[in-house]
Amino acid sequence: MSCVQSDGIAALNLARLLPGRETDDMLASAIYMCCQLDINTIVNGVLRADGMVEHLRPADIVLCIQARMNMLHENLVIATRVWQPATDPDCTTTATGECLKLLGAASLEYQSFKKSAGLPASLAEWYISIILTAGGCCKPCTAMLKDRALEERKVFWRRAREIMGLA
Ligand SMILES: [Zn+2]
Repeated sequence: MSCVQSDGIAALNLARLLPGRETDDMLASAIYMCCQLDINTIVNGVLRADGMVEHLRPADIVLCIQARMNMLHENLVIATRVWQPATDPDCTTTATGECLKLLGAASLEYQSFKKSAGLPASLAEWYISIILTAGGCCKPCTAMLKDRALEERKVFWRRAREIMGLA
């Protein structure tokens, strides 16, 4: 799915018009979309095709900025969990320790701030990151990394309303 910048703001404004708790998931998704925007766009809005500027309500600007901070923290925790230096039981490099070294190096990059866990959009890019970074890992370890990332994404979305400041 691809979105243009105004979609997140329009979605959040639309979600605010809908009554009831059934909109909470829609709100969380809309805030998530807004979190992908740069701060200037979150604060000042975005020019629509019709020439009007679509703004967020001040309370939603605060919510989005807080959610971005929450997501940065979540992403760093997710990164350290995904890249924890423990290989798959079927690792084919146990004798040489190649996979363990690669996982340890990746983990250290996050812990030492050499590698950023990234902004919220990185949640959608974990697979790409793993495929690129885990290129030296054996097949079982690469599959394990993908499983870890998938599980972390599931946990993230189960907690999405809390992370977005709605719970
Ligand atoms: Zn391995």
